[in-house]
Amino acid sequence: MKVLVINCGSSSLKYQLIDSDSEEVLAKGLCERIGIDGRLVYQKEGLDKEITEAPMPTHKEAIKMVLDALTNDKTGAIRSLKEIDAVGHRVVHGGEKFACSAKVDDAMIKALEDCSDLAPLHNPANLIGINVCKELMPGVPMVGCFDTAFHQTMPEKAYLYAIPIEYYEKYRIRKYGFHGTSHSFVSRETAKFLGLDLNNSKIIVCHLGNGASVSAVKNGKCVDTSMGLTPLAGLAMGTRSGDLDPSVVEFLGKKLNLDASGILNILNKKSGVYGLSRGLSSDFRDLADAAKKGNHDAEVALEVFAYRVKTTIGAYVAAMDGVDAIAFTAGIGENDGATRARIMDGFSYLGIKIDPEKNKLRGQNVKISTDDSKVAVCVIPTNEELAICRDTVAILGGDK
Ligand code: ADP
Repeated sequence: MKVLVINCGSSSLKYQLIDSDSEEVLAKGLCERIGIDGRLVYQKEGLDKEITEAPMPTHKEAIKMVLDALTNDKTGAIRSLKEIDAVGHRVVHGGEKFACSAKVDDAMIKALEDCSDLAPLHNPANLIGINVCKELMPGVPMVGCFDTAFHQTMPEKAYLYAIPIEYYEKYRIRKYGFHGTSHSFVSRETAKFLGLDLNNSKIIVCHLGNGASVSAVKNGKCVDTSMGLTPLAGLAMGTRSGDLDPSVVEFLGKKLNLDASGILNILNKKSGVYGLSRGLSSDFRDLADAAKKGNHDAEVALEVFAYRVKTTIGAYVAAMDGVDAIAFTAGIGENDGATRARIMDGFSYLGIKIDPEKNKLRGQNVKISTDDSKVAVCVIPTNEELAICRDTVAILGGDK
């Protein structure tokens, strides 16, 4: 099957056309600046990237341009749209309704509209992507894959906030967790790579990118994760604060004369390692360079980041009564050996030993712990698009 994977953001759209049999990416790219001006990046397998500036007032023009590029006479990856057998959509929030990926139908669209207030920046864009594809490719089956779905197996004790229970009952305020497609993919790949039985394993996945989260996966099922009602909770991130005392919102609001959304804007966009480094950068390469040159703020930012990941790992060892493997993934997790080393320093009580030479390797599945380490630590590159493609095929089964 040829599966078009669509990840629709509020002003951007990423896409990949994947042959599900060979799992080869036939073409990929993104549309940027939708609603502002418009830019299409398109790359057919084996060819250079093409960049086209063209007006994209809405996601409809953007998706039309993607479909035109995919079927272009010279550089297209397919001859006609008829070759697209299915579309897999990334959807950020599935609320409590979706514990796994599901076929898009009217009931799903209604359910997504109903839980849009849980992800007001993301779900409306995801819905537009679904509706536009429905219009431009009538009859092509579509599947929605939710960032929250994998975490729906968390027990009550992990997902309930200790606030009056009626707020959960009335408004569904609880921990949902995000990056689920990645946590699911990486935990499976880790078990496969290490020869563990997924159904009898304890794996901690550290998805460390601009957004970052950790999950505890016991016997293939998520039992806890660090993000919450929204992706602001948990670890310190590129520009997000992660967990803090909720009283900070009122305290800082009074000092800065800002309302709650003004403060949340600071916690989302000006905090994390960016805020700690006095606005130097949210990129770990810049922070590492600055820290090496003696910049104390950059060093502290890297320390805070690593400490939060470390203490979260410790908590999840407790949640699962042990751990067989710890996997690092996403931009920082896959590429930044120095940050991995900082995080894993101090786990001698668990018998963990990191091999500094192996920890220098990048871009592949690799075990970075020594052979006599009591817990395997590895780097497992994530591939959310492939995970969406696999889910799409699995959900649609034979019915193309
Ligand atoms: P997201 O998908 O959440 O935007 P990514 O998973 O692409 O984020 O991660 C992006 C981050 O990964 C960058 O901001 C940077 O901090 C980090 N990163 C990428 N490559 C490297 C590298 N070679 N060394 C250190 N950090 C890196």
